[in-house]
Amino acid sequence: MTKRAYKERLYPTPEQAVLLAKSFGSARFVWNNTLAYRTEVYQQREESVSHSAAERRLVALKAEYPWLKDVSSVILQQTLRDQKAALDNFLNPKLKARYPRFKRKDRRQSIRLTKAAFRYRHGEITIAKSSELLPIRWSRPLPCAPSSITLSRDRAGRYFISCLCEFSPEALSVSPKTVGIDLGLTDLFITSRGEKSGNPRHLKRYEARLVYRQRRLAKKQKGSKNRAKATQQVARLHAKIADCRRDAIHKATRTLVNENQVLCVESLNITGMVKNRHLAKAISDAGWGEFVRQLEYKADWAGRQLVKVSQWLPSSKTCHHCSHRVDKLPLSQRHWHCDGCGHAIDRDINAARNIRTAGLAGLACGATGAGTAA
Ligand SMILES: [Zn+2]
Repeated sequence: MTKRAYKERLYPTPEQAVLLAKSFGSARFVWNNTLAYRTEVYQQREESVSHSAAERRLVALKAEYPWLKDVSSVILQQTLRDQKAALDNFLNPKLKARYPRFKRKDRRQSIRLTKAAFRYRHGEITIAKSSELLPIRWSRPLPCAPSSITLSRDRAGRYFISCLCEFSPEALSVSPKTVGIDLGLTDLFITSRGEKSGNPRHLKRYEARLVYRQRRLAKKQKGSKNRAKATQQVARLHAKIADCRRDAIHKATRTLVNENQVLCVESLNITGMVKNRHLAKAISDAGWGEFVRQLEYKADWAGRQLVKVSQWLPSSKTCHHCSHRVDKLPLSQRHWHCDGCGHAIDRDINAARNIRTAGLAGLACGATGAGTAA
């Protein structure tokens, strides 16, 4: 058994929208107030505030700010639990997580409800303090009652519900195929079989529109209704771009996992790469991190093997026919001729083939699926 989130669009009634706005606001207030207190205590006395101390403090906060009682207390308690988890992640040197940040009103808002704060019956959900069913547009039925739900509103003003459910993944029947995957910029990915995905480059296509909208936004007067409207239009455009990108990645990773038993991919050091400003925009546009994340869980559920190959493998510079290695290969050079065997080499396909070879070699000498083979 494993847990999976099912995310759907939510269309709250006007009353529910008010309740949600209050809940988002209260959760944000509790998060920020507690985080500020924790930070202050640490700076003054170098002590950390325990979770139970934070919970006791919440009772005092509710007495001081009675409007916090308008929303389900489960939500506020959950906010504290989430903050504790964020702090635990920060203190875990392995995760390299950053210190939790203050939540802002103009960003995505979300609240998490555990079982005590919602009811699931006959495929319908009601939440505490609201008598009406949540109007959800289900794209598929849930496999079981969710253990928790997250309600959110994005910057474009759209509402979502994400339901966490237990489910048992079904392994796909074994495929004889193995593939090496090279992540690129012109193409999102290239396989060792020579398939090039093309890159949806949504940001590029929408960029003109975005630039235009952002320029219009900059001219609006602060605090005006027109500015709020223009902000919303920009946010909608961003949301649209993100949706298309995620969609394209979902389709691609699904096909790759369905077709191949073993998938070899380069392990990525995204944080390192994103520090390089030039590459940064292209990488976040291409969504490498999301691509590998999806491959990982889809492979896991399907009983496929994902092998991560060291990012230091000279996959582009080594000829996959004869292993001859060139010293220099500028990024702009997409094709080269191998001095060792005379083959004409396509840079990306060659890299994908080397990644496949290295991955399979790693498997043969006993590296695990998630491990690093070089
Ligand atoms: Zn060669």
